Amino acid sequence: MLIDDIMRLGSGAGETVYFAKSLYGYPLMLLRKGKPNGGGVLVVGAVHAREHITAKLLSLLMAEYSGDYPIDVVPALNPDGVILSTEGIEAFSLKKSERLKLLRINDGSGDFSLWKANLRGVDINVNFDAGWGTGDGNLRRPAPANYIGAYPGSEPETMAAVSLMNSGRYALVVAYHSKGEEVYWGFGEYAEYRKEAEAVARALGYKLKRTPHSAGGLKDYWIARHNLPGLTVEVGEECFPHPYPESRLTELGKKHSGIFEIYAEIAKKVWKDKLSGT
Ligand SMILES: [Zn+2]
Repeated sequence: MLIDDIMRLGSGAGETVYFAKSLYGYPLMLLRKGKPNGGGVLVVGAVHAREHITAKLLSLLMAEYSGDYPIDVVPALNPDGVILSTEGIEAFSLKKSERLKLLRINDGSGDFSLWKANLRGVDINVNFDAGWGTGDGNLRRPAPANYIGAYPGSEPETMAAVSLMNSGRYALVVAYHSKGEEVYWGFGEYAEYRKEAEAVARALGYKLKRTPHSAGGLKDYWIARHNLPGLTVEVGEECFPHPYPESRLTELGKKHSGIFEIYAEIAKKVWKDKLSGT
């Protein structure tokens, strides 16, 4: 099961903190290294269900990180979706009506491997209060992807991330998705720390891009609310299918090796520039 896998991969990855619960009731877990000082890094994976490779990648990278600058990692913000995508609907004990509803949302199919949303068909990454409902491809009914939810922050997973982001612990937030080998930076008018975003893209060999037509995402909320830099990293070569194959995890880990040290350097700079008050 995924939660066990993450614990195994993340062993030696610092303190484990359970900070909230998913819609179904799974614990939302955070791996913490370093003492949070108000200028730390928050890295979030598996916002989208089928992108569960990011949960494993982040656990590996956290186990490897040996710096002393504070980093918090949420390997999977959407554990319900990940379990649905990897193990199917039978992994949940649901009322008959809930089960039928999920199957209906999935066009009658019992194959949930390409699902992106949470357990009631809300796409967490368009549910944040940042230009909510104005993004390209937004849907207004439950779906495997792109449904914005009844209102901004309607989902427990979204609000769990919001409370972390508003905790005053962080200077930089990075969200992990798959795939395409791209680093997205900025939101709306916000365009600071371009050089730092470039450095991340360069270190990974990824393309740096902006997302003019996206809204309601995790990094969008972080930037809009705090006026601090946020990134979305899309891991994995475009030529592979969804879900990105697990057999590529070691390769992916090698490619990302040392990237947490770069995030720490950027956060340190942002802390000095904007937050330390000196
Ligand atoms: Zn995604």
